[in-house]
Amino acid sequence: MRASEILLPTVKEDPAGAEAISHRLMLRAGLVRQLAAGVYVYLPAGWRVMKKIAAIIREEMDAIGCQEILMPVINPAEIWQQSGRWDGIGDELFRLKDRKGADMALAMTHEEVVTWLAAREIQSYKQLPQLWYHIQTKERDEARPKSGVLRTREFLMKDSYSLDRDVEGLRVAYDKHIAAYDRIFARCGLRVRMVESDNGMMGGAVSHEYMAPSAAGEDEVVFCSACGYAANIELAVARAEVVTSGGGKAGAPHEVHTPDARTIDDVTAFLGIEARQLIKSLMVVSESRGPLLALVRGDHDLNELKLRLIVGDFRLATPEEVAARLGVGIGFVGPVGAGLPILADEVLRQGSYVSGANKDDYHVTGITAEAFEAEYHDLRRVRVGDGCPHCDAVLAGERVIEVGQVFQLGTRYSQPMGATYLDEEGNERDIVMGSYGIGLARIAAAAIEQHHDADGIAWPAAIAPFAVHVVLVKTADDEQRAVADDVYARLRAATVEVLYDDRDLSAGVKFKDADLLGCPLQVVVGKKAPQGVVEIKVRASGEREEAAVEALVQRVVELGAI
Ligand code: ATP
Ligand code: MG
Repeated sequence: MRASEILLPTVKEDPAGAEAISHRLMLRAGLVRQLAAGVYVYLPAGWRVMKKIAAIIREEMDAIGCQEILMPVINPAEIWQQSGRWDGIGDELFRLKDRKGADMALAMTHEEVVTWLAAREIQSYKQLPQLWYHIQTKERDEARPKSGVLRTREFLMKDSYSLDRDVEGLRVAYDKHIAAYDRIFARCGLRVRMVESDNGMMGGAVSHEYMAPSAAGEDEVVFCSACGYAANIELAVARAEVVTSGGGKAGAPHEVHTPDARTIDDVTAFLGIEARQLIKSLMVVSESRGPLLALVRGDHDLNELKLRLIVGDFRLATPEEVAARLGVGIGFVGPVGAGLPILADEVLRQGSYVSGANKDDYHVTGITAEAFEAEYHDLRRVRVGDGCPHCDAVLAGERVIEVGQVFQLGTRYSQPMGATYLDEEGNERDIVMGSYGIGLARIAAAAIEQHHDADGIAWPAAIAPFAVHVVLVKTADDEQRAVADDVYARLRAATVEVLYDDRDLSAGVKFKDADLLGCPLQVVVGKKAPQGVVEIKVRASGEREEAAVEALVQRVVELGAI
């Protein structure tokens, strides 16, 4: 394609309000434009990248025997009501009414449609297993669309679904997807980490996320370089620490006057102890169990997701509620004599601590697990530097972009939606399902996050908008132009994807645009053109070499252009 003919609106300056590098570079390189918050137009070069990603995904899905279908974005409300998500999901689900007043939803994912289809088309064990996928628009009214195409309200997802007779079948489908996902991300030039996103300890469904390390990521993972343990920090577990010191004389609770010492810092300063010698007592009001106390060690943070998995939705009690229930200010709440059900972090099974005395301006020292009744759970938020739960090493952490997720759904959808099959004995059974998503735009943006420099993008070859960017240095020079036209024709004849910058602009502007757009190879047609010599520059490394026009095609092929 000729740069003079295509829409490639590059921008010199960093656009205001774009923080993530991928966001800035996608705008500057003329790949996308924002129509509304979290709603984007893909321009020609950007759409070429997306089509390449889609092609790689299609090849790998087809290779594991996954069948491509296409399911609609507009869904009748009934199927979402049957699955329970019409009520279960809040404002993130776009809802509308058709002209007859019927409720409709814009699909944010397609479990409901798949299960609806399975309920109608699958009758017998002989039809199982099945693997179905599509690449389709998803609509989600995200609370905070941000970072360019990383979090949008409309985006393309490859979502696939496995239908099996039993859990063994589901595991086979799951493993096939993991193998396919590994290949997809590798081919797209992305470095990813597969992490646990369930909490095996608390049971529940198995799920893994594919995380691309990047400073722009909204998620954080912890991982162990020694044994390979890796998990989303939201659900990560760490080795229980050995208690080295206690607060007060263990097992001999002793009330101390701590006037106005309400915070962890106040109390540690006042008593001359460390935060780890304290118990943090948080009164929460939970959906399933009402008011209760959640305890974590003073230097630890409550992991809200872990608590939610145990007690359902909850919120922190207000100071008024604490006063009404315990007759004390928030800073002096403690487990002993609180008269509330207590959920305590496992670490607190051992050691002795200082906690609030449930009496204003007083704390108690020497508290051990014997002093109160509690249910023990892993409630704390893991931190970088904590011990790995599986080996002797220490956990490291990094920020990541979630590019994909695989999920063992089991009968979560088939059961309420009646997707059953008859087994060999004629018994009716629920189909066992899995679902597997990949965000195409997140692959593109994460690839930019991982492959760029101060001048712009340096695309991994497989997803670059073009393989070769031909730069004609002096458009007004007839000899140079003739050679550049020839180079363009030769490359195209060899089916190399070429962008030919034939615009009548200064060489400096063209070089800058070529570096910004980031095609893997640049072919510069300049001074030596009359001798039939051009220069090849490898965008990622900056290496340059001269090549004779006659040998150019062979050389760019050797350098990986096709
Ligand atoms: P997040 O936690 O980042 O909101 P999610 O876990 O809700 O994502 P999934 O339902 O697992 O997302 O969707 C599968 C894939 O779709 C994600 O791994 C991601 O690649 C992509 N994706 C999800 N939400 C968005 C979005 N708002 N914009 C762009 N891509 C998205
Ligand atoms: Mg996800």
